[in-house]
Amino acid sequence: MEKKVGVLALQGGVSEHIDLLKEIENVSPIPVKKAEQIPGLDALIIPGGESTTIGKLLKKYDMIDAIKELKHRNKPIWGTCAGLILLADKIENKDMIHLGLIEITVKRNAFGSQLDSFITKKIIPAVSPEPVELVFIRAPIITAVGEDVRILAKIEDKIVAAEKDNILVTSFHPELTDNPTFHQYFINKIIH
Ligand code: GLN
Repeated sequence: MEKKVGVLALQGGVSEHIDLLKEIENVSPIPVKKAEQIPGLDALIIPGGESTTIGKLLKKYDMIDAIKELKHRNKPIWGTCAGLILLADKIENKDMIHLGLIEITVKRNAFGSQLDSFITKKIIPAVSPEPVELVFIRAPIITAVGEDVRILAKIEDKIVAAEKDNILVTSFHPELTDNPTFHQYFINKIIH
């Protein structure tokens, strides 16, 4: 059976995720614009963009409880960049609407203006034995993690990817590469 994988389509980089999901077998990618679409999903991606804007839209379109409900039903949720910020339970120096679905503390725009955007390559052992390209755009970092949160990748001493149970967060953008490895890793979390 095809798995319905939603990409939250309120603001930000939606089509890039949809395009990479199309390369994965048995996946039907769905742009999610309405709360009614959420309960029927097998997994959800919250893309990059502007986290404060996406947060306000989540509230406006009444999606917050539906997303929390997905988590409680063990459906995988992945946040990239702004999506990571929205999934975090603590955001440094900013009072903003967020979902709080993983015990991490996040610092926004953490690489500073000199390193606003950059690309690097790294092996992330949990995900693939081959190096993957990591694209950072005004990226956040994770400054603290809860007890059972698994750290997947660091750049120098900065945590840039983590997971706990069905929640995956990356401060970089695998959807801006042409490599579906990370998307495949996420899809493998769907319980068959
Ligand atoms: N800096 C943005 C924010 O704080 C995130 C950037 C991105 O998603 N590429 O929301």
